[in-house]
Amino acid sequence: MTETLPRLLLRLSEAGDPAILWGRQAAPHAVRDFERLLDRGVLVEQAPATEWDVCPACDCGLGARPVRQIDGRPVAVCPTDRASDLVLGDDDLRSFRIVQAALVREIAMASGFGGEPAPVATGVWHVGETSNQRALFLALSRGAVLQPGIIGLMRSVARSSPITVIAPAMAATELARFAEAAIAVMPIDRCLGRNAAGFAIDISMLECAPALRPQLVIFRQSQRVVLDGIEMHIPQQPFKLLVMLAKAVGTRSGYLTRHQIEAENSGRGAADLVRELRHFLSHGREGRGADLIKTRRSPTGYFLALAPDEFVLR
Ligand SMILES: [Zn+2]
Repeated sequence: MTETLPRLLLRLSEAGDPAILWGRQAAPHAVRDFERLLDRGVLVEQAPATEWDVCPACDCGLGARPVRQIDGRPVAVCPTDRASDLVLGDDDLRSFRIVQAALVREIAMASGFGGEPAPVATGVWHVGETSNQRALFLALSRGAVLQPGIIGLMRSVARSSPITVIAPAMAATELARFAEAAIAVMPIDRCLGRNAAGFAIDISMLECAPALRPQLVIFRQSQRVVLDGIEMHIPQQPFKLLVMLAKAVGTRSGYLTRHQIEAENSGRGAADLVRELRHFLSHGREGRGADLIKTRRSPTGYFLALAPDEFVLR
């Protein structure tokens, strides 16, 4: 199955501006879909091409070969070998520039976001708020989402709201930068352009919280925790317990006994401390935070229910 026209435009846009759609790439798609995008300014037709790639194994030494009209048809002429001349079709010389701002406007409208998307930086837009009150940004290219200062710019637009950014696929080290900044990243591929709805963002994908690893980042120095992209402050005693539980992950037992916890927190019962930690971890979330700290029996103990690669202790 060929990819959808929205997906094709998004894929071409990932390389950055200007992104060009060639007539031959557009040809398999429904004429009405295509013309609608021309009408709406998402695609702007460029002057017909006057040059064409040289033949695969040519010794002509040209960077490109000229296109000439021969018998009423466009032909990419090989200067050294007439047999290598390539007769082109009507669509071949047509090309369309993808207008990024108009593409993003199309996505925002199709997704039901009321206002006009606001550019935050080159290639990055604030498209609106999700129903769970996250500021939603869209970056069309890797270059855009990785440009210096982008995290601060998104923060200043989002104010105190948590942030989700829809962006092309990134490497794990690049993703870690966003996790540390409490920004959730949703790959374009997973929520846009694949569905029958065309340009609409699949909002359900955003709301079931993108589970990009690491899910939990613990900053010991600043006593700060970022869980699934949401930043939370935890008071000193329960924070200390969380650090202890994180350190226990991957050890032989993998858990802490009541006695171990109480020895480090004079005067507080382990059950009481765990309850407090669960309370702070579940802040602003529907239960999952509390589920992170599990209880075990005989001997009674507590453990952090995450694999070693699902959290970062800094
Ligand atoms: Zn040639």
